[in-house]
Amino acid sequence: MIKTITYLGLGTMGGGMASNLLKAGYELTVWNRSVEKCERFARKGAPVADIPADAVRNAELVMYSLSNDQAVEEVVFGEKGILSGIKEGQIAMDMSTVLPATSLREEEAYAKRGVDFLDAPVFGSKNESANAKLWILAAGNKAIFEKVKPVLEHLGQTVHYFGKNGNAAAMKLVGNLIVALELEALSEGLVLAQKAGLDLNTVMEVVKVADFRSPLLVSNGQNILKRNFFTSFALKLMLKDAGLIKKFGESLRSPIPALRVVKKNLESAVALGFGDENASALIKALEKEAGVEVKAR
Ligand code: NAP
Repeated sequence: MIKTITYLGLGTMGGGMASNLLKAGYELTVWNRSVEKCERFARKGAPVADIPADAVRNAELVMYSLSNDQAVEEVVFGEKGILSGIKEGQIAMDMSTVLPATSLREEEAYAKRGVDFLDAPVFGSKNESANAKLWILAAGNKAIFEKVKPVLEHLGQTVHYFGKNGNAAAMKLVGNLIVALELEALSEGLVLAQKAGLDLNTVMEVVKVADFRSPLLVSNGQNILKRNFFTSFALKLMLKDAGLIKKFGESLRSPIPALRVVKKNLESAVALGFGDENASALIKALEKEAGVEVKAR
């Protein structure tokens, strides 16, 4: 049974997960690039490491959730990175949203050191991470997955196994393709409703109950009507994911015409200065074009 864990990357998602690992009683060591995010863990007795290589030395399981492929490059493969501290018999698990090809590179590098690796990205956002309600995907060696599963069950409401390494990363991109198109559909729909002079609260009442309903449409729609763009999933991260989906789709010659449109709108919203707001601020690019603001009366 796993008892000692290191968590690296204590942002919106990693911070919630690490906190739930402490609550579940694991011996937790933490590392984050900006040290202030470690303070709340240090206050609860978790050792804070100075560099990733030192952070991972005594952990049976090493977990991380980092912004993007480049952050993984630095934290895993960098001079003071995980690979220079991790040893045979340990397990590493990447919970970031990255290209499947990056997960495969990680698997190869860890295997050379006798380390098992799982790609384990997640669905859900800030609240699901904080409340241990994530929907978790995992891929890699099945026996290692079974060993790690009890840990994941402290973080999420479901855990799905996807077979060989890279498959969980691929499923995450499939899911985020759907999320991106849902956000675009919601934004275009609400702007059209506003232009048509419909009562937006009644529009959302229908979105809540009709056969096209989804929790994502309801929560984002209600927040847009309140002009609440507080960040659970940053727009700039959604744009990052659109880039990953495009690259992945093109590598498999799978058509992604709608995603290209969403990516362009995300780029416009970032250019307008909304990159650090929630991904639902995508609507602001369409509002500018339409000359309206979508807001409940
Ligand atoms: P976040 O709040 O921005 O946190 C990003 C983390 O990565 C921080 O710990 C940050 O360190 C670290 N980081 C970034 N660049 C780095 C670098 N070059 N070297 C070292 N550390 C670096 O992001 P998040 O929302 O937690 O997302 C984390 C991952 O989960 C992303 O891959 C995202 O796509 C994915 N994800 C997010 C959500 C969501 O709703 N937020 C949902 C599912 C999946 P600092 O604190 O020093 O900046």
